[in-house]
Amino acid sequence: MTTQETTTFTKANTSISVAHGDGIGPEIMQATLSILKAAGAPLEFEEVKLGLKVYEQGNSSGIDTTAWDSIRKTGILLKAPITTPQGGGVKSLNVTLRKTLGLFANVRPTQSFAPYVPTNFPKINLVIVRENEEDTYAGIEHQQTDEVTQCLKLITRPGCEKLIRYAFEFTKSQGRKKLTCMSKDNIMKLTDGLFHKVFDEIAADYPDLTTEHMIIDIGAARLAANPEQFDVIVAPNLYGDILSDIAAEVAGSVGLAGSANFGQTASLFEAIHGSAPDIAGKDIANPSALIRAANMMLVHLGYNDIAETIENALLKTIEVGIHTADIYSDKSTKKVGTQEFAKAVIERLGQLPEQLPVQKFTASAKIPQISKKAFDPANRKTKQLLGVDIFLHWYDHLRDPNILGPALEKAAIKPFSLKMITNRGVKVYPEGLKETFCTDHWRCRFLANPEGSSQPKDVINLQHALSEQGFDVIKTENLYSFDGKRAYSLGQGE
Ligand code: NAD
Repeated sequence: MTTQETTTFTKANTSISVAHGDGIGPEIMQATLSILKAAGAPLEFEEVKLGLKVYEQGNSSGIDTTAWDSIRKTGILLKAPITTPQGGGVKSLNVTLRKTLGLFANVRPTQSFAPYVPTNFPKINLVIVRENEEDTYAGIEHQQTDEVTQCLKLITRPGCEKLIRYAFEFTKSQGRKKLTCMSKDNIMKLTDGLFHKVFDEIAADYPDLTTEHMIIDIGAARLAANPEQFDVIVAPNLYGDILSDIAAEVAGSVGLAGSANFGQTASLFEAIHGSAPDIAGKDIANPSALIRAANMMLVHLGYNDIAETIENALLKTIEVGIHTADIYSDKSTKKVGTQEFAKAVIERLGQLPEQLPVQKFTASAKIPQISKKAFDPANRKTKQLLGVDIFLHWYDHLRDPNILGPALEKAAIKPFSLKMITNRGVKVYPEGLKETFCTDHWRCRFLANPEGSSQPKDVINLQHALSEQGFDVIKTENLYSFDGKRAYSLGQGE
């Protein structure tokens, strides 16, 4: 068998790439494709190989060029979950796909199917729009000293603008009323602060929608305790990931939630759950999440009627109590396996649920283009170099900042002088508190005097001078102002 195999089901007028995945992936994909076929979806399927088998062939990205070619050509990937091998040396294929294809918006609807699927919240009907390319998921991590590792959290204005505009467009186009932004901008004032600021800016263009902002910790708590109050939630990558699993779990099962990933040129549709190796090969997995992801794909392709037929047959199947093991309860009438569940859905194509709300899909929201403003040099701000944070690996056995501080004051060269030293963000010199625990990782802040008198070469000279004095410089971060506004955080206690 070649790595790419074509199966034509019906009138072949839209090609999509299909990845059968690992673990329960092939079983739930088989079930999903059988339903698409029975519903007469006018699709042509190109099978692509990615995941565990590709990793095991020594390809550390988990995807080969044939698969990339197919996805580039079709622009659509229907993907079953894959298993990410444990241990170092391999990159997460899911993150690679999202970032390489520019799939910036991850749309994760969640609803409850009460009383047929047990939940404390019978009226959940919400969507999480999660940023998909940035944040700590940029995967830029370093070990800097014996004791300290770091992960860079990147939040960009173009990234926020396209994601948040998409979230507003989505809310409006789906006839939804409220968009809640969640961030932690009380602590991360620059990164999460930018996300919140862009949310407020774009909200001004949508006066008919209700908007609100919640700090992520209370927002997540409310989502767990009272999910029915939410309509659409938009959040940076990491928070959005956690929020959508909370939402799916409190609605009944992660086995029921599908998701869509949208970019300018490609889209990817998948279940939110993983490859469930604990139940793989047993024909007991619930295929509903992948079926619902396939329905999101059909809506994206403009086949709303077919998506509605499948979704309503799925709801009817759940309503009559035909359930896979994960949602089997005293409300169930029959426990079925993966393929039998698919067969039950196929038998109900054309039927509508009687108790659960009949599903009607509206067209997908349009994908916003990146604002041209972002690339216009006329919008560049005036940047001024004010100083530099120099990070040192210093492991004096006493770990006493009152030894390090005076030594750095002596070693500093013009126009810089030492302003402070922090350890894990807390000021420890001058006038630190002796209770503060110090690691071997020191952030030493040097400011230019007079303000703004420094040039980039002065930073290099300072770094050189410190190295000459025996200091182990591991990293530097320049300190700027933009349009006269300080653009770096203060140390705690500074
Ligand atoms: P998981 O979602 O695979 O499983 C968590 C639990 O939910 C397990 O008990 C499993 O049996 C159950 N479950 C999941 N899907 C189910 C379904 N459709 N029907 C019935 N029960 C279901 O999460 P995990 O165990 O943390 O991860 C397993 C593997 O999946 C890992 O290698 C992980 O990296 C990968 N993963 C892949 C994706 C993806 O491809 N998009 C997403 C998440 C995790």
